[in-house]
Amino acid sequence: MSQKEKRYFRSQIYEVDYSRGIIKLKNKLCPRCGKVMANHKNRWSCGYCHYTVFSSS
Ligand SMILES: [Zn+2]
Repeated sequence: MSQKEKRYFRSQIYEVDYSRGIIKLKNKLCPRCGKVMANHKNRWSCGYCHYTVFSSS
């Protein structure tokens, strides 16, 4: 894990299930600028550089 990735290891990005000891990623990180992307119904979008990726599920 790089220094940059460690900075994003925060509760607003990761959802921690304490009872089961599981950490889930709540949001994707933008592949272009590395910011947290917003989860929409069928897509992820970056509010910083407006990168958008459509999710198949
Ligand atoms: Zn971005």
